[in-house]
Amino acid sequence: MKTPHFYRPTWVEIDLAALASNYRILKKRLSPGTKMMAAVKANAYGHGIVEVSKKLVRCGVDYLGVACVDEALVLRAAGVRAPVLDLGAFMKSDTEAIVKNDITATIIDWESAKCLDACAGRLKKKTRVHIKVDTGMGRLGVWHAQADEFILKVCTLNNLLIEGIYTHFPSADSDETFTRSQIAVFSTLVSRLTIKGIEIPLRHTANSMAVLGFKDSHFNLVRPGLALYGLHPKDEWLGEIDLSPVLAFKTKVVYFKSVSRGRSISYGRTYTAKNDTCIATLPVGYGDGYNRLLSNKARVLIRGRFHPVVGRVCMDQAMVDVGRSAVRVGDEVVLVGRQKEKCIYVEDIAEICGTIPYEVVCWISPRVPRLYINQ
Ligand SMILES: *Cc1c(COP(=O)(O)O)cnc(C)c1O
Repeated sequence: MKTPHFYRPTWVEIDLAALASNYRILKKRLSPGTKMMAAVKANAYGHGIVEVSKKLVRCGVDYLGVACVDEALVLRAAGVRAPVLDLGAFMKSDTEAIVKNDITATIIDWESAKCLDACAGRLKKKTRVHIKVDTGMGRLGVWHAQADEFILKVCTLNNLLIEGIYTHFPSADSDETFTRSQIAVFSTLVSRLTIKGIEIPLRHTANSMAVLGFKDSHFNLVRPGLALYGLHPKDEWLGEIDLSPVLAFKTKVVYFKSVSRGRSISYGRTYTAKNDTCIATLPVGYGDGYNRLLSNKARVLIRGRFHPVVGRVCMDQAMVDVGRSAVRVGDEVVLVGRQKEKCIYVEDIAEICGTIPYEVVCWISPRVPRLYINQ
């Protein structure tokens, strides 16, 4: 893997050893024979789809899950030959790429099933599909009560190989009763199909939360994303389960000045120095995915100590009050991650911004180079 060259000292570090360790921790929670599909959509939650996928394939992951054909094609172009499931809906215009590149498609209705079957027929190539069943997410898929009939119909399409059947949980982290009822509904559907002589090889429901909290949801394949990246689907589990954060977001001090009491910092003048102090300027802003909601709220680590972000975060820069500490131009700054014995978690940033860890890592923009460490 070649190290990207960049001048502006703002980067993301992706710890591939931590990724491998999270994979092994999750794998240990599965019954023998249960497979794992890694959710690598949205550029592997901002971590870099190609490098993350290659590492997980080397670790032994069975399947990769993406959100669209374009993401699957990025993997194929990078030489990743592992099975890839497109978890999203596809359009007629996607079918040729799906068939030609051995992308497993999700079947959600009869029209698209017929369309993909016809394309596979034209190209004289059978295509693997997974049927998506709606058990309460209300996003994609056939409502479970109509699923038997639908699947029997899809079975008549000779160019489609029904390899999998799956559903998704809307509230595995917050509503145990509802999640249990979804597991039961899905399980019953699978049994009904078996009675009708339809044995679908891969049956899956579990996102990260369900992998960790609902053993009954595992069936014979699980689909974690978040937990593989060392992030916790439930805040209470931070520090309880031994997942290691994979991503660190770093920059360096590029400017440093003393500011006397009463001077203001950044747009809108939302911060005024209460005392004579020193302000460090960082070359990172919301244009990099360091959210503007962090203005006057977040902390960063410099020389092993926390310092507050002061004034509004700008598009390309942000300021930090470093007081009287011995900060210098060129000092490394941790926005997310560990420095000495202190740590800023993705979960902390999510809390300040009133959102979920998923969104925080997806924010980090393509402008920020990703460095892969501990390969
Ligand atoms: C993203 C996604 C997952 C992974 O969810 P996590 O909460 O990140 O583990 C699983 N299944 C589907 C359908 C998804 O879209």
